[in-house]
Amino acid sequence: MDASHVEQDLVNVLFTEAQIRERLAEMAAQIEEDYEGHDLVIVGILRGAVMVMADLARAFGRHVEMDWMAVSSYGSGTKSSGVVRILKDLDSDISGRHVLVVDEIIDTGLTLSWLTANLSSRNPASVEIATLLRKPEALQMPVDVKYVGWDIPNEFVVGYGLDYRERYRNLRDIATLAPHVYS
Ligand code: 5GP
Ligand code: MG
Ligand code: MG
Repeated sequence: MDASHVEQDLVNVLFTEAQIRERLAEMAAQIEEDYEGHDLVIVGILRGAVMVMADLARAFGRHVEMDWMAVSSYGSGTKSSGVVRILKDLDSDISGRHVLVVDEIIDTGLTLSWLTANLSSRNPASVEIATLLRKPEALQMPVDVKYVGWDIPNEFVVGYGLDYRERYRNLRDIATLAPHVYS
């Protein structure tokens, strides 16, 4: 794969940087309204949610604490392995606190369904989920998602934190990859 030319690997831009910024601002406004008067900790799921966390957090006009978890549910390719492991746990104690898990995409729902159960066992005041993207067709586990940026078709997407083999995370837009990239 040519390391220097990213654009030729992309098929179709689904969401531009500007569209993402606008949608996150709407989501942040809704979240602010819903959690008004309450302490809130947002938990980003590394590494994919880094961009969403950065932009969502800065769209808030309120105080918000940011914490991180790293879990692994995927191998290096495009399919779920079905196994969730905590690679990095929260730094903070969330008991009695309102927790909003922030992710960039929900595919099967396996990761977040496991994660919210894990977080709920730590006696928080509440646990909710915000995700920029959701693939409804691929949902295999029941996950109650409070905030969704967009529902998208069941296609593999990259950019804005989303990788294919650790590439394309730093794209500003969200796009699908050309078939030649996979082969
Ligand atoms: P799930 O457990 O819901 O199937 O997916 C968990 C993780 O798989 C997501 O947080 C993301 O890291 C990865 N994933 C799922 N769908 C896609 C996709 O279309 N593109 C990329 N780059 N990653 C995805
Ligand atoms: Mg993720
Ligand atoms: Mg990945």
